[in-house]
This record gives sequence, structure tokens and C-alpha cells, in this order.
Amino acid sequence: MKGLGHLRAHRVEFNILCTVNAANQAHGRRVYQFFRDELGATWIQFIPIVERATTETLDIANRGWSADPRGKRLLYTQTGTLVTNRSVGARQYGQFLIDVFEEWVRRDVGKVYVQLFDVTLEAAFGRYKLCIHAPTCGYGPALEYNGDLYACDHFVEPRFRLGNIHETHLLEMVASTAQRKFGDDKRDTLTRQCRQCEVRALCNGGCPKDRFVLSRDGEPGHNYLCEGLYAFFSHTRPAMAQMARLYAQGKAPMEVMASVRADDAKRGPYAPCPCGSGRKFRFCHGAARVPPGTMLTKTSTITSAAPTMHSVDRNQS
Ligand code: SF4
Ligand code: SF4
Repeated sequence: MKGLGHLRAHRVEFNILCTVNAANQAHGRRVYQFFRDELGATWIQFIPIVERATTETLDIANRGWSADPRGKRLLYTQTGTLVTNRSVGARQYGQFLIDVFEEWVRRDVGKVYVQLFDVTLEAAFGRYKLCIHAPTCGYGPALEYNGDLYACDHFVEPRFRLGNIHETHLLEMVASTAQRKFGDDKRDTLTRQCRQCEVRALCNGGCPKDRFVLSRDGEPGHNYLCEGLYAFFSHTRPAMAQMARLYAQGKAPMEVMASVRADDAKRGPYAPCPCGSGRKFRFCHGAARVPPGTMLTKTSTITSAAPTMHSVDRNQS
């Protein structure tokens, strides 16, 4: 908070990068309101924490990837079909995002930029600004301190090493067959469930690092977060489509807020909240604020560079 004070005092724009994990997954709206109202944030990214583990590593992974807190840590690799107890649940991830969206779409369209909402709207025009929900990926390799280059910062492990810049030109590695295959595999290894999914154009199966569960047909390599991703993309689709129509007509997408408010007025205060929480609208997204409760800590980092709207093309790491 002190650091943020310095940034604000010197009018440095900042972007919040917030993890969604087991500790905050039930508090989407409250987390968002804290960033918006207490920190004055206008650029916010949410990333799901999905830490994979095997039956052999789960115990040690839950303890922080080391049996001895000061000892050597295990090398984290994208293996295993289990997740640590810090990881977000699939359904809960979707509910978190919907909770934030229902707040944003009533009050903040055009004022607060939430990366996932921005890129979902872009996808309606066939433009993909975030690798995770683009048809293919592989355009954000990770360069390590010693010159080693890896396919992506989520795959910094021996089998995804492309080479070293002291030996091979960076462009050669980025354009290599191995890297192109890495990116194309995102599309070419989709499960049948994904290929037939009605929100595929928005989701594209999500990030390959999260594809380690069985699809509903029993096919391996399906996205662990699917339930939440499907819930989020299908829930927000009508409002996103309306914003896309407004934009295509040369109008401001923020006009969607007026029609959301009109629907709210028709709904009435004691009807179920459209977020799906099961609470009455008046006590959920119809209320100006979430009742005060748990303090939120250690779930986010603040970076000093705010991304330009519609130009977030790096991978989300
Ligand atoms: S973060 Fe995921 S989607 Fe993006 S480049 Fe890496 S593997 Fe691909
Ligand atoms: S919502 Fe699920 S089934 Fe649909 S594209 Fe995404 S991961 Fe695949």
C-alpha cells in the first residue's frame, strides 16, 4: 500500500494483476470493489491459480514445493491431474468472474478496464488479444537470465526449451517448427467437447497448461477450468453481444449499462440476483456495496505499467 501511495503521488499509472485462488474465489465482487474504491484502480487483470501436482508431489506441493521451507524446492512442471489446495476451483473461478462482471456491467463500463472483459468483447469481432483465449498461441516465449528460451513462461521446463540466445538467433527460435507446433497444438489438440462447444469462439479451450482432466466423453486433455469458463462466457454473452452491436453502430459500449438498469427495475428487489448466487437481488448485486468482512491480503501484485486498451497481446502469466 505504501508503494502504491508513491505511484499515486507521482501520478504513475498502474495495473492490478490479481490471482484468483482458493482464498479469494468466493469474493469476486468484494475484491473488485476494493481495487476500484480503495485503490482507485482502473486497469485490472485476474488470473486463475491452477497448480498441478501428482500423487507423489501433492503433499510437498501443498507445503510450498519443499519438504523443508528453507530447502531446495521441487522443479514445478506441468504434470499430474491433481491440484494443490491453493488452486481455484473450476466452478468457483466462473462464479468469481461473473460476480465481478455483474458489478462492472452496472457501474463501470468505459471507466474500469478488466482485461478478460475487454478481450471477450474483442473476440466478438474475431480479434484475439490474449493468448489464453486465442485459437493458437506461442507468441510469448520466456527468456531466462542465462539466455535459455522456452516456449512460454508457463512451460519453463527442459522439454520446452527452444535453445539459448548465445548459440542461436532469437528470431530463429521464435519461428522454429517446434515453437509453431507448440502454438498450433493449442487448436489441434482440442477435445471433441471443445470443438462442439457453443462458446468455443470466445474460449478456444483456454490455456494448454490447464488441460489435464477428462472431457465429458472421457477424452484426456480437457481444461480443468472448463465448468467456470463455460459459465462465464455463456453468462456474459448477451451483454457482450449488446456491447458489440453498440460498438458496430458507432455508439459507446457503456450504453449497455442503461439497459441493464432497465432490466433491474423490471426485476424488482426481491427476485433472485442474475449473478446466480441464489440471493435476492436487493442483497446481492442490487446493493451498492458488499457488506464488510474478511480482509484481503497477498492475492495480488501491482505493476506500474497500465496496458493500452485493445493492445494487451502478451501472454497472461
Ligand atoms: S499462457 Fe497458455 S495460451 Fe498463452 S502462450 Fe502460454 S501455453 Fe499458450
Ligand atoms: S468452455 Fe469448456 S468446452 Fe467450451 S471451449 Fe472452453 S474449455 Fe472447451
